[in-house]
Amino acid sequence: MTTKPRIATVSLAGCFGCHMSFLDLDEALFPLFDRIELDRTPLNDVKDLGPCDVGLVEGGVCNAENVAVLREFRARCKLLVAVGACAINGGLPAQRNALDVGEMLVDVYRHRPGLAPGSDVPNDPELPLPLARVHPIHEVVHVDHFLPGCPPNAETIGALLTALLDGRTAPLQPLPPLHYD
Ligand code: SF4
Repeated sequence: MTTKPRIATVSLAGCFGCHMSFLDLDEALFPLFDRIELDRTPLNDVKDLGPCDVGLVEGGVCNAENVAVLREFRARCKLLVAVGACAINGGLPAQRNALDVGEMLVDVYRHRPGLAPGSDVPNDPELPLPLARVHPIHEVVHVDHFLPGCPPNAETIGALLTALLDGRTAPLQPLPPLHYD
């Protein structure tokens, strides 16, 4: 029995738009899913990551939990793909990088109009510690491939995955044109 390549996906500081774009492959997902096994991904709600061939990472790195998850993906996936603008350059979440994270939390939770008396910055140990900046994933781990776009369109994601499954590492062009919604 031959084992199929295993694919894992994760959303760090992202909006799941890149995952939605992947699902926009629609009927093209059927032949793709015939060729692969899904490992950890929000698509199947599996939480534990096993050894994988390809990891698709959506979103930038905004807190300590993101760092841990990303490092685990790097350790367990042979190839890591930064999917979308947030993973590649921090994207929309990185707009907070011009602000001091401590001052921002105090502003939002203590001083914003309409807060209940005694409101304070949440301090539950289960909440992941925010980082001072939102980082693109290549600042934390080595990344093998970058898929730009916000989100990358479905055909682009499908073309890259197919190329990787076919064992083609380069060139991956021509890919469908970029778009930013
Ligand atoms: S790149 Fe765009 S679609 Fe993807 S997670 Fe970021 S904001 Fe969402």
